[in-house]
This record gives sequence, C-alpha cells and structure tokens, in this order.
Amino acid sequence: MVLTVAGCGLFRWEKRAPWRDDAERECLASKQVKITEYVEPARGIDGPGACGMIAPLKVTAFAEGSVGLQSRQTFACPMLPAIDKWIAESVQPAAMFYFGQPVKGLKAGSYACRNQNHAYGGPLSEHAFGNALDVMAFELTDGRTITIAKGWRGQLREQEFLREVFIGSCRVFATVLGPGADPYHYDHFHLDLARHAGGRTICKPVLKFMPNLDPAKIRPYRPSPPAATSVPMAQPNLRPVQPAQGLYSSPMAPLPMPAPGGAPRTIDLGGLY
Ligand SMILES: [Zn+2]
Repeated sequence: MVLTVAGCGLFRWEKRAPWRDDAERECLASKQVKITEYVEPARGIDGPGACGMIAPLKVTAFAEGSVGLQSRQTFACPMLPAIDKWIAESVQPAAMFYFGQPVKGLKAGSYACRNQNHAYGGPLSEHAFGNALDVMAFELTDGRTITIAKGWRGQLREQEFLREVFIGSCRVFATVLGPGADPYHYDHFHLDLARHAGGRTICKPVLKFMPNLDPAKIRPYRPSPPAATSVPMAQPNLRPVQPAQGLYSSPMAPLPMPAPGGAPRTIDLGGLY
C-alpha cells in the first residue's frame, strides 16, 4: 500500500525504531493473534519515512468478532491483544454496569502516516506505526450510540460510562488521551502502546471521577460463544474466563449478543494524535 502524503513535513529518511519491529515479531510469534474472518493479514507497509509496519492486520471486529468496527482498520500485531484486553476488562464491564448490556461496535480510527496532531513537523504519531486506536463512539447492543463528543458532557450515565472506560484504558495502554487533554481530543479517546521514557504511562486528563468498578474485582467479560465456527484467540494475559454478568448489580437485564460486524459505513476520522 502506498500512502500519498502531501506536504506533511515527514522525515523521509527517518528509520523505524528497532523496538517496533521487534514488538511486532514477538507478537506474531506468540500466536496471540489468530487470523479469522475478522482479522486478515496484509502486505507490509514500508514508508514513507519511518511509517508502516512489517505485517499489518486489517481488522473488522475485535473480541472474537463480538465488537464490530464501522470500517476496516489497520493495526500492528501488538495492538490487537491490548484492544481485546481493554474490551474485556474495561469497556464491557463498564457497559454492563452502566447500561446492562455489552458494547457491540466501535467507531474508530487507526493507521495513518502522519505526525502527532497532524502537525507539519514534530514526531510521528503512533498511528503511523499501526500502534494506536482512536475511539470516537461506542455502540451498545440495543443500537444506542454513545459518542465521546456528546457523551463526555452528556447524560450522567453516559458521562460516567465514558470516564469509567477512560480510567480503565490507563491500565492497558501506554498513552491515553481524552477530552480535556488538549484541543485535539475533545471528541475521541486516543489509546496507544508507545514506549515512553522510563516506562511511564501518559493518561490525560487527570479525572476527578471516582470509578464504580474496582479493578481488583473486575472479571474479564467474555462474549457468548458465536454461532459461527470462529477460532478463539489465545489470550494468555487474561485471567480465567468468567462472565461479567451478575458481578455488579445493574438495573437492566443483559441482552443477547448480536451478530458481530454489520454493514461497513464510512466514518469521519476525528483522530488526530
Ligand atoms: Zn490518535
């Protein structure tokens, strides 16, 4: 795939940091990611500049196909186990707690060869390596959509759900940016696996919100077994499989999981970082 980047000030002689390729190879060798109808391999992307990845994966759904994407997205291997962990341990427990039903879809963005925040210069974004996910909206099983642009300051339940997910994201990703972090993230969460100096995590903004879910008690949410014969993804990082239902009281009964995916729709990529 060749991306045309006009006037972006990318350093075309820049080389990809060795740890990125190493992380990809390690992830691929670990067999944490299985090729399924939702995760397909693509040809390597090499440039311009340091942009790209060895073995891009084109994804139409996460979590064994149970959380669909509005459009196909491209990631390097390490992001997929992280996103599945985030869905199982942060997104779905929060959705069950606040809405009594799981999330069935995401409006999201991924690979883009560009600098951080679309700046003319400066460092490349983690998106330029397939190492970042932007989330603009969550779609619940009943079809209700919670966008970050509206929900962050929307109904109380939406506000709390988004903050709960945001805080949970900081336990999985190295960088988490959301509304209030800077002028660019008012409408999406940016989640990535950057390697910051000293192994630190960047989680901005610092929220005053007190989470309702205790991380020590959260059991990873597992989707109902799909009717189709998809192969479960091995996830050695997850704790023993337990359904999240019943762990926390919820005013609404859980709804059955829908068929994953759905017709691809075009999306407005709000992601910038
Ligand atoms: Zn981003």
